[in-house]
Amino acid sequence: MPTYVYRCKVCGTEFEKVQSFDDPAVAVCPHGHEETRRVFVPAGIIFKGSGWYITDSRKEKNGSHGKSESNNASNE
Ligand SMILES: [Zn+2]
Repeated sequence: MPTYVYRCKVCGTEFEKVQSFDDPAVAVCPHGHEETRRVFVPAGIIFKGSGWYITDSRKEKNGSHGKSESNNASNE
């Protein structure tokens, strides 16, 4: 079964939940909040904690200005 990543809208915690495709896209935050949103993460690219970003999206920009954006990406 796939592992989904959720982000809590209340406290910002990201957590993983194993669900089947038929399950509703809802999960409860480890801190008890029910307002969470499912975050799409490609299979095999799940990192623990914060401060990561997907490098694939940068390849399509082909050398335009993107240096300052990479700094902001790890600032959340
Ligand atoms: Zn929460």
